[in-house]
Amino acid sequence: MSRYIIEARDRFGAWSAEAAGSAVVRFATESEADAAAGELARDLPCDRADLRVVPVAERWQLVEGGEHYDDLEAESADQALEIARDNVDAAHYAAEHLPLRIAVAVRDQDGQEVASDYVVLDAPEPPCPGRHDDDGADDWHDWTDERAYGAEGGMVAHVSTCARCGLRRIYGPVSDRSTGEYFRATHYHRDEQ
Ligand SMILES: [Zn+2]
Repeated sequence: MSRYIIEARDRFGAWSAEAAGSAVVRFATESEADAAAGELARDLPCDRADLRVVPVAERWQLVEGGEHYDDLEAESADQALEIARDNVDAAHYAAEHLPLRIAVAVRDQDGQEVASDYVVLDAPEPPCPGRHDDDGADDWHDWTDERAYGAEGGMVAHVSTCARCGLRRIYGPVSDRSTGEYFRATHYHRDEQ
């Protein structure tokens, strides 16, 4: 989804779009721009080697959980989507609602969705109440006895148990509350006493 422009070397040897012609034309595909650069090299007194095709930044709308929350410049929708993925922050979601699968998307300036993905936020690991080292500083679980089980949605769940406190750590299917689809995430389960 990039746009491409043609640049030429100016008289100082630096690449510039202005040197390639009066108007900066944006091409939808790299091969389109490439073909145009070939024609330009014949029209202008220059070699094809003195022209180059480069992607240019465009503005995109970032969407998280269906809400448009920011606009930014990126060379492609994929690059903007990568930023939308990185922007997903577990701190914006209540810990008791995790794990969650967050839908992210990129829209063009007409509001058309052009790329989308999901980011999985795992449940936070609770401290281990069964561990009391002499220095009292360490509250990590001692995960052991990992087993795989068949689980919902035809998926496999990997379950480990803490040797100290009995907490179970499950990496397995969780139902997406809005779509009912299953996704895999880490969550924790403690058996009732
Ligand atoms: Zn533990």
